[in-house]
Amino acid sequence: MDQQFASDNYAGLCPEAWQAMAEANAGHAPAYGDDPWTARAADRFRALFGTECEVFFVFNGTAANALALAALCQSYHSVICAEAAHVETDECGAPEFFSNGSKLLVAPASGGRLTPHAIRTLATARGDIHYPKPRAVTITQPTETGEVYSLAEIRAIAAECRALGLRLHMDGARFANACASLGCSPAEMTWQAGVDVLCFGGTKNGMAVGEAVIFFNRALAEDFDYRCKQAGQLASKMRFLAAPWVGMLESGAWLRNAAHGNACARDFAAMLDGIPGVAPMFPVQSNAVFLQAPPAVLEGLKERGWRFYTFIGGGARFMFAWDARPERMRALADDLRALAAGAICQG
Ligand SMILES: *Cc1c(COP(=O)(O)O)cnc(C)c1O
Repeated sequence: MDQQFASDNYAGLCPEAWQAMAEANAGHAPAYGDDPWTARAADRFRALFGTECEVFFVFNGTAANALALAALCQSYHSVICAEAAHVETDECGAPEFFSNGSKLLVAPASGGRLTPHAIRTLATARGDIHYPKPRAVTITQPTETGEVYSLAEIRAIAAECRALGLRLHMDGARFANACASLGCSPAEMTWQAGVDVLCFGGTKNGMAVGEAVIFFNRALAEDFDYRCKQAGQLASKMRFLAAPWVGMLESGAWLRNAAHGNACARDFAAMLDGIPGVAPMFPVQSNAVFLQAPPAVLEGLKERGWRFYTFIGGGARFMFAWDARPERMRALADDLRALAAGAICQG
């Protein structure tokens, strides 16, 4: 099919990930992560973050988030998240399931961003035995609507977490886009700011499949390998989850891909300037553009074959992946312009 912007998951594999998969396919290797690719990928992450973190590879983001949160909590604990958080809205209860019942406590949050105040309000609302005890906070970076927490915001949240005895998890399904957006190092955005565990997304970054769960607080990683196995997330041919990370991290593609997606989102938003009734709903800070547009315009886009989601963020969402092409973006913008003009004539 022609290139679409419904999701960064519509894109294929980037050449660096594909090449590493081909190299990993050159012969036999030990199973279940006991292979040179898995060791090399974990070492690459330790070099990237500049610290002795514990690294695990799982198949997808739902598993990464759910298992990481389960590792932070007992079943009688609770996890504070934003109301728009993927863990709350798009994981079919997996965090509650894998933690044997840890409850998600949902905070109202503009742009999907939690604040220290919102965290404190929820964490201190109840201190009695009848309510699940707050134990962790999860933030999504970038948020579900494509906004990015600043380093100062993350540090302030982490400080509040420490004061309240809460652990801090980061859902980084598009972590690379946040790094490219802020121009900071992965270390600054995570352990140096006080993040205990990060889910680093590979799929949306240009791999076929796979996310890395990275524990900066290494004590929290105890028995995490067993947790992964029990959850059906231990790949027997682990080298094919690990090798693409080697390709992405050693070539720098992880950051290049993200920077390209972010630049495309900015360019696309600029192409919409002056189209009546059509405007971005949120600041464009990563690879997402959410559009407010008249219903007739969105209907018209669908008739012209464009695909997009409207259930996230309340507008039409367009995501720009590592391979987003300017001419397809231009075609979408041209269709939006024509449809918006038509909607005005009819109105
Ligand atoms: C895509 C995404 C995930 C992971 O989703 P899977 O489909 O389970 O891989 C997690 N969090 C956020 C914010 C996402 O956008």
